Amino acid sequence: MSLQIHPNSIPFIVAISISTLIAVAIWPRRSAPGAIALFVHMLALTLWSASAAFMWLSVTLADQIFWLNVSTLGILIVPGTLFLFSLQVSLQRQSVPLWALLVLSIEPLTGLALIWTNDFHRLVYSQPQLWIRNGLSELHWAPGPFIGVDALYSYVLILAGIWFLIRGVKKGGSLMQAQFKLVLLGVCLSLLADVVSLLPFLTMDGGLDAAPIVYTLAGGFYIYAMYRKRLLDLMPVAHSVLIGSMTDGVIVLDAQDRILEMNSAAAQFLGLSASDAAGRRAREVLTTWRETTRPFWDQPDIRTETLVTGDIPRTIDLKITPLMDDRKHTLGRLMVFRDITMRKQNEAILKDANKQLNEQLREISALRDQLREQATRDPLTNLFNRRYLEESLQQELARALRENYPVCVLMMDIDRFKLVNDTCGHKVGDDILQALASLIVLKIRRFDVACRFGGEEFVVVMPMLLLETARERAELLRQEFASMPLPCSSLKESPTISIGVACYPFDGTDSETLIKAADRALYAAKGSGRNRVATYGDVVKSALSDTIQP
Ligand code: GH3
Ligand code: MG
Ligand code: MG
Repeated sequence: MSLQIHPNSIPFIVAISISTLIAVAIWPRRSAPGAIALFVHMLALTLWSASAAFMWLSVTLADQIFWLNVSTLGILIVPGTLFLFSLQVSLQRQSVPLWALLVLSIEPLTGLALIWTNDFHRLVYSQPQLWIRNGLSELHWAPGPFIGVDALYSYVLILAGIWFLIRGVKKGGSLMQAQFKLVLLGVCLSLLADVVSLLPFLTMDGGLDAAPIVYTLAGGFYIYAMYRKRLLDLMPVAHSVLIGSMTDGVIVLDAQDRILEMNSAAAQFLGLSASDAAGRRAREVLTTWRETTRPFWDQPDIRTETLVTGDIPRTIDLKITPLMDDRKHTLGRLMVFRDITMRKQNEAILKDANKQLNEQLREISALRDQLREQATRDPLTNLFNRRYLEESLQQELARALRENYPVCVLMMDIDRFKLVNDTCGHKVGDDILQALASLIVLKIRRFDVACRFGGEEFVVVMPMLLLETARERAELLRQEFASMPLPCSSLKESPTISIGVACYPFDGTDSETLIKAADRALYAAKGSGRNRVATYGDVVKSALSDTIQP
């Protein structure tokens, strides 16, 4: 094959390198929607530009016709792949149905068959001639009817791609819009390339078909969108990062509640593969969910915890958000859910443990109260013990000092109790102690404090009572006790008590002196014959008269 150096070949050689570079740059991103279509588109352009370059470099008519025939393969592939690229980018779909590919390949295959058999029917071109211009040979030919059909096919596909991209621009997010706009500009430039390709025929002067060069220049927009706006790699990455790797289940439904998409977490939870579920109605796949979540489906935005029945019932935290367009038309729903069965179980266990702990705490607190009570009570009579008396009397006297009121103390002792014990037995002695304690409790006021001071001695603290009243109460107690029935037949007389009375602040200002004064009065009562009440005042009086008498 002999070659010539024709300047028209130069732009094609440049275009070959550009389209090849773009194809190489796309290859690593081939998993993105539209990437394979753009890759094939760019290779087809390389083939087109390369065959055009060789056509200009060839000298003989036969060589030039050969390269013309080769270039048609590129020409026929370019519009279809550009349409697929526009469609996949705007819809963000990776897959293309087989039938669509078959339909799209009818025209190119027909064209291919026609071009290689053109000599017989001249449907593609006729009258190929060799022109010598400026000493260089050029191929000239007249277009056949198929050129018109192919041009129409190409316009329709490119316009359809533009229509999809405009829809994408209107619908997409701000970043996607920027990408779609760049792709749209590129595709519009390709439309211009189609117009340019008709120029040689319109001028009837032959010359350069610049279409592959303009198409290749459009590739600049795709490369810009790819690198600056991250077309082809950002969206798939965002998709896989945001949805694919989410541990929450994500299901996207369309307006008819058909499953559009589901991430692996959702697929795993439902025990299905995402591709099996795609396109199926939510009510078939999520049977049990719809039952339990039925009241929420018509609400605009819900979040609920619900039980999902199945082989193993599970609780999920479910959020259903309607997906709406700008005009508030529902396009579908987004379901995001999380399996919270474990959390619920743990919460229930914790709640149970908490309940048990609270019960135990209540028991402990009751026991503690009981213990505290026991520590302050005398077990035989259940009156307060001496320790409690000392504490409470001190507090009572402090309050009496602050609020300025009197406090009387009654100290009583059973007369000749030893004899009672000896005559009737210790048990009867105990009964008498209990009977006296009951009598005291019965006769004193609610806020008086009665305690067993020791043995058969009892003390009653009576706040806010004048000495005279205290003495009367003591007298009443003494009489009541004396009138109790005989504890045992061997005893000739009922037991009696002697009571000493002393009052704050007259007979003592602290608990010790006040008790001592009451004890002195009791001693005096015993001394003057027992079964009587004596006040500390009586003691002082008799002491004085003893001193005065010679
Ligand atoms: P008096 O007080 O009239 O001088 O004579 P008394 O016999 O009561 O005097 P004393 O203080 O000597 O005796 C007190 C007796 O009380 C001695 C003891 O056996 C008896 N006693 C002390 N505590 C108890 C008790 O809890 N139960 C019984 N049954 N007897 C007790
Ligand atoms: Mg006694
Ligand atoms: Mg005694």
